[in-house]
Amino acid sequence: ETVIVLFTRDLRVHDHPALTEACAGARRVVPLFVLDPAVRPYGRAAFLAESLADLRRSLRERGGDLLVRRGDTVTETMRLARQVGARAVHVSEDVSVLASRRQRRLAEECERARTAFLTFPGVTIVPPGALRPSGGGDHYRVFTPYWRVWAEHGRRRLLDAPREVVLPEGLDAGTLPEPGPGGPFPGGERAARERMNTWLRYDAENYADRRDDLAGDRTSRLSPYLRFGCLSPLELESRRPGDDLVRQLCWRDFFHQVTRAFPGITRDDYRPRGHRWRHDEEAARAWREGRTGVPIVDAGMRQLLAEGWMHGRARMVTASFLVRRLGVDWRVGAEHFFSLLLDGDVPDNYGNWQWVAGTGNDTRPNRVVNPLRQARRFDPTGEYVRRHVPELRAVPDRAVHRPWRLPGGVEGYPPPLVTME
Ligand code: FAD
Repeated sequence: ETVIVLFTRDLRVHDHPALTEACAGARRVVPLFVLDPAVRPYGRAAFLAESLADLRRSLRERGGDLLVRRGDTVTETMRLARQVGARAVHVSEDVSVLASRRQRRLAEECERARTAFLTFPGVTIVPPGALRPSGGGDHYRVFTPYWRVWAEHGRRRLLDAPREVVLPEGLDAGTLPEPGPGGPFPGGERAARERMNTWLRYDAENYADRRDDLAGDRTSRLSPYLRFGCLSPLELESRRPGDDLVRQLCWRDFFHQVTRAFPGITRDDYRPRGHRWRHDEEAARAWREGRTGVPIVDAGMRQLLAEGWMHGRARMVTASFLVRRLGVDWRVGAEHFFSLLLDGDVPDNYGNWQWVAGTGNDTRPNRVVNPLRQARRFDPTGEYVRRHVPELRAVPDRAVHRPWRLPGGVEGYPPPLVTME
């Protein structure tokens, strides 16, 4: 009686239905992670390595281990299934094209091998597809009606970490990937739980007032942990983080159910609105490098390059600037974000980009975010800009968001790519 639990982006032991069910129902459990060349880690490799090391430690503390294999996920899982005579393979259900294809192939291979293939919730709070609009359709296309139904919908029971994981004997554990140099986000479930507890204790109650303060940076910074499943979004919600944060978690669920229903979200306009995009590689490069000459935009883009993360408000401003002011195709920006963000994932990244570009589910598709107004409101003293754009450190407050007003501009800092006022 052996069950394989295939970990993907659910790298935790707390509130993990696929793992808990395996531990409760089978005598032996084989936790497995496959480093698959089809899943490009981009800048996320070090975070992933740390998260896997942490997961292995947690499983070893419980008498088990994390087996690590390299190659095609389905091939490696089935190889191990044959080796241990697995009765079942468990996974947490996921929605991207890659994940859906993997689940389909696993289901087929398991059927052929007479092994059960079972999927479990855990990646989102409400499983994608669980809520259907009463007027018909397989998913919600607009956020507000989804939010209303989502908030009222029941929740599954939160699960403790299993006490014991019993591994069959004689298996080669396999080697973990090398951890890279440590960054501002240490990977893993322990770090995630620590971050959650600290944020809940000190910042949650002021979230609504301070979430847009760019320099204060008081949002939870839990996104990379949610991205890799080091933290269960259901557990975070159960800790009563406040309505405003719960609403953000609902956006995450919302985009997951959109992606499940519209797997082309990374390439195709969700709602084609006939936008004509400009092909301007020079402008796109200036944007990527944080050299557009618009301080608030450049600060965000440089934070992304330096930290693999960007404040949410800055994501909105920089993305809107690319598509609305420069007229460049949202796909160009989305690829750049996806390759660098530690929290870069298909539903949230592409869903938000399409929302900003007006090709998504925004009910006001022509909304334009004015970067100067945003700068004045959310970085009134220019602290965020000065932190990330050193050329502007000595510029007085009144010109920090408009250096073009200074006679001769600022040495070493470019004039704005487009007329700003
Ligand atoms: P908090 O404000 O503390 O929010 C808590 C959690 O809620 C986040 O960790 C995240 O999981 C979820 N959340 C918050 N805002 C959103 C949102 N607008 N949409 C979906 N979920 C949200 N988020 C990602 O996780 N991955 C991405 O690849 C990603 N790409 C984005 C691209 C663009 C153009 C924009 C405008 C936003 C993107 N976001 C993405 C959403 C959001 O900016 C980040 O989740 C948030 O800034 C992360 O910081 P935090 O954890 O401190 O957020």
